[in-house]
Amino acid sequence: MSLAARLSDPRLFRQYAYVNGRWAHSEAGREESVIDPATDEVIGRIPVLEAAQIHAAIDAADAAFAAWRALRAEERAERLMAWRNLMLDYREDLALIMSFEQGKSMADARGEVEYGASFVHWFAEEGKRAYGQTLPSHIPNAALGTIKEPVGIAALITPWNFPLAMITRKAGAALAAGCPVIVKPASETPFSALALAELAERANIPSGIFNVVLGDAAEVSQILCNEERIKALSFTGSTRVGKLLLEQSAGTVKRVSLELGGNAPFIVGPDMDPREAAMAAVDAKFQTSGQDCLAANRILVHASIHDEFVTHFTERMQALVVGNGRDSETHLGPLIHAKAVEKAAAIVDDAVSRGATLVAGDQSEAPGANFFMPTLLTGVTSDMMVWREENFAPVAGITPYNDDDEVITMANDTEYGLAAYAYTHDIRRIWKLLRGLEFGMVSVNSVKMTGPVVPFGGVKQSGLGREGGPTGIDEYLETKYYCLGALPSVSGS
Ligand code: NAP
Repeated sequence: MSLAARLSDPRLFRQYAYVNGRWAHSEAGREESVIDPATDEVIGRIPVLEAAQIHAAIDAADAAFAAWRALRAEERAERLMAWRNLMLDYREDLALIMSFEQGKSMADARGEVEYGASFVHWFAEEGKRAYGQTLPSHIPNAALGTIKEPVGIAALITPWNFPLAMITRKAGAALAAGCPVIVKPASETPFSALALAELAERANIPSGIFNVVLGDAAEVSQILCNEERIKALSFTGSTRVGKLLLEQSAGTVKRVSLELGGNAPFIVGPDMDPREAAMAAVDAKFQTSGQDCLAANRILVHASIHDEFVTHFTERMQALVVGNGRDSETHLGPLIHAKAVEKAAAIVDDAVSRGATLVAGDQSEAPGANFFMPTLLTGVTSDMMVWREENFAPVAGITPYNDDDEVITMANDTEYGLAAYAYTHDIRRIWKLLRGLEFGMVSVNSVKMTGPVVPFGGVKQSGLGREGGPTGIDEYLETKYYCLGALPSVSGS
């Protein structure tokens, strides 16, 4: 059955771009297909917009800006809450769209809808608290302070692995701050973005404030980066493209926020129960079939419990069900496309050729061309691709270590610095790891670490800025300082 036929509200499935409150075809008639990675069937077609249509989206956002910023924060919050409520009302439809275009299991997709909606809720509230400051004056008879103002139009470029939440984490903050947005979703997963546009319209978010443009990524981003009126660019995706966008934005000195790749270590201390730690490591590795910037990429286990840990990890990993995300028993859906499968195979071959042991992962059992069976490698060393690169696949690599100093050096041996996990109950070790790990986020004894209250982001080449949390809205606000001089003096001040 087609995707549209399975939705409770088929109008959430839109095969257009969304510009200035209208559904748009490509003016030149250019289109491309969107593929279901589980079956390789075409889900639908989307327009490839012409440059003039991208410029029209910028004009529309520019025209809508004044009225949106003039609304009281509370009025913007009411519309954002209406948008968030609609996301939850249509949770099942949004999850189905996501599972079709991204491949993830329905359980993961439903979780992402809730996660995505939670950012809109959070920022609807935070927008009401975009406080300035009153500063004690060093100038006689003057009042000094700051006010917060929206930066202007924000361009949001997002990846395919979290097609909904990576949009709402940015758009929730930008819209609450009073900024119009132009979203460029990944070409693999445009339909989640377009469903969000449909719901934004129903939530009375005005025309021109939430736009979704589709087209050739390099061409679209060049236009967005070169445009003076776009004041902020927020990107989530690969470090390679992030660097390119940073360079391209230099000409217009934009505010740039980057959420880039990760290469998370998962450290298991000698005091841990190997079974408990192995259960957590499997959870941290295989979410979204390993296509997660937080996925545990390098599992570092104290030598004293290594072998037991491997046994439990293997057992738990082999219990994961690989299949179509719409089958209720599926844990792991397909990878996003055939190239991702090729890369996963190359990573495994590289590791084995350099001396790693392939403990489990028989690819002849894969249920389709874009699937990759969960794979475990032991004896992983730092010269292997599985260590050096973000593998973005269900391939786990385990390495033993002997002491805390050694494991900190091993964990930091990467250009990335997004997230790290540590499992230990020894408070001295916890503190040492927390201070020694060069990562923007460190999670101790918990796989779950993200949420709307969290300042999500990385150090080193994992990015710039933080999304979510108490500071997330600042990415879309300017601080304007004022000095009111020559005021009448007031006794006591
Ligand atoms: P990607 O290839 O960098 O693509 C991300 C976005 O950039 C897509 O919209 C893509 O559009 C666009 N893009 C591609 N080439 C471009 C170019 N030359 N100029 C401008 N834009 C371009 O990344 P991905 O493969 O979709 O996503 C996986 C990466 O995202 C991983 O590295 C992962 O770690 C990272 N990620 C990070 C976080 C975080 O919060 N730190 C969260 C999720 C994912 P098209 O699809 O149209 O090519």
